[in-house]
Amino acid sequence: MNNSTRRTLLKNTLAISGAVIVTKAIATPNTDKNVILTPQNITTDITNTDSHQSFYYANRKYESPQNSLNRDIKCNICIIGGGLTGITTALNLARAGISDIILVESDEIGSGASGINGGQLSVGYEESMQYVIDKYDVDLAKKLWPLSVNSVSDVRRNINTYGIDCHWINGIGGVAYKPEDFEDLKNEYELLKSTFNYHNMELYNTKDTRDILASDLYHGMLYDKTSAHINPLNYLLGITNILTTNFKQQISIYTYSPVSNVEKNEQSDKFDVTIKDKFTITANKIILAANFSSTQIYQGISNKTIAVRDIVLTTTPLPQTIATSLIKNNMAVYDTRNVMNYYRLTEDNSLLFGGGAPQGSYDKKSAFLSLYNELINTFPQLQGVGVSHFWEGLESTTVNKLPYIGYTEDKNVYYAQGFTGHGLNISNIAARVMVEAITGDTTNIDFFKQLNHISVPRNETLQDLMSNLGVLYFKMKDW
Ligand SMILES: Cc1cc2nc3c(=O)[nH]c(=O)nc-3n(C[C@H](O)[C@H](O)[C@H](O)COP(=O)(O)OP(=O)(O)OC[C@H]3O[C@@H](n4cnc5c(N)ncnc54)[C@H](O)[C@@H]3O)c2cc1C
Repeated sequence: MNNSTRRTLLKNTLAISGAVIVTKAIATPNTDKNVILTPQNITTDITNTDSHQSFYYANRKYESPQNSLNRDIKCNICIIGGGLTGITTALNLARAGISDIILVESDEIGSGASGINGGQLSVGYEESMQYVIDKYDVDLAKKLWPLSVNSVSDVRRNINTYGIDCHWINGIGGVAYKPEDFEDLKNEYELLKSTFNYHNMELYNTKDTRDILASDLYHGMLYDKTSAHINPLNYLLGITNILTTNFKQQISIYTYSPVSNVEKNEQSDKFDVTIKDKFTITANKIILAANFSSTQIYQGISNKTIAVRDIVLTTTPLPQTIATSLIKNNMAVYDTRNVMNYYRLTEDNSLLFGGGAPQGSYDKKSAFLSLYNELINTFPQLQGVGVSHFWEGLESTTVNKLPYIGYTEDKNVYYAQGFTGHGLNISNIAARVMVEAITGDTTNIDFFKQLNHISVPRNETLQDLMSNLGVLYFKMKDW
């Protein structure tokens, strides 16, 4: 049986079992919050959570290139990392007419955060514009906001221009977890209208929110109509496919080619990029797009980010009527907690549901059950629903939750990381501003340099500790 037949058979089986379970579940809602709920049907190994276990990997429409670097080589620009930041930067460089580019990825394209995330392409940044105004100033906020709005249009344009099959759906709702959170949403709504002249959003009170979203948990919603949700792996692999066909004269992509070190050769003024501890790429310029690993492989920039873990599951596909009854307008949703849950319906009506998890080693079964219980707490009518996929991934965050994007003084090394849950959009902004800088215009990238991030230790154990303490602190604040 070929892969696609097997996938179709599996999908149909899941759809039928999902329908049966959901129908049963609706008949017997759980009312005892102390009972730990378990799915009636799990078709995935919950102790194996790598990127190949994701819903996206099982439903990919395009394949990653599979050629590993096995010789020394020279190039003009070397991009390290085959996620959205690296691949979009490659696309923008190629479209700007630049050639002699090499992109190296340690695994397959999309094996990092870009191929496994919640799929929410949202305007703005993790912190509100009010925060940016308070911490910096209104002028900086007024520069950052439109970059993020225009970036969503860029992604949409890429999808249309290259005909990428990644299931774009408009609309994301930020839902108030506590009554007082609605006040913050209301203030941000007013601020965006008055100071940023941004109007593509709607504010809903508790009752109107519950008419759209079949959950009793929330106290209102700020619904953004520019934002959207997509299948991120198909978007990423779709762009990669364009690079390896339309732009193959300008760029070469090597997968399974981990970089162990980047070093500047002071005599030649070039960079030596060591691959698999064996081969060397000699490059004029470097783009560090390896997420939180970037500052491990190149010591020439300071570390400002911490890796944080998220876990995600998808239910078995829901019958259309049930899917529509959960989220009537088919938006993606995130709640206002610091350690939030986020969810959306996928292209086959599975409910994709994610949230934060501890760092370092942790008990996967408990984390899975805790996430499943968050889901059922949100939608008690789904009690018992089956689970088709469960996976985890790391993303990077900064202390002030704003992105770390910049370049070195000699203008030869560019970096972008610390996107804190907004990387679908910010990776595209980063790609745009880095390529503008490389082609001579540093205006936009310099706005990000003004964010002045606090340095963080490179040591992984210390970072795990900081991240776990941070999650604990924020969970207590969320109570
Ligand atoms: C579970 C989860 C859910 C998320 N949900 C959302 C969401 O809904 N919306 C949103 O906007 N953002 C979300 N994010 C964040 C978003 O996915 C990231 O910010 C974004 O994908 C980062 O893109 P990137 O290309 O910079 O990094 P990555 O996608 O992580 O890519 C970096 C690449 O570099 C490669 N690499 C690492 N080290 C080396 C090396 N030494 N040599 C060569 N290659 C190397 C990695 O294998 C990887 O492929 C989520 C993240 C996670 C983990």
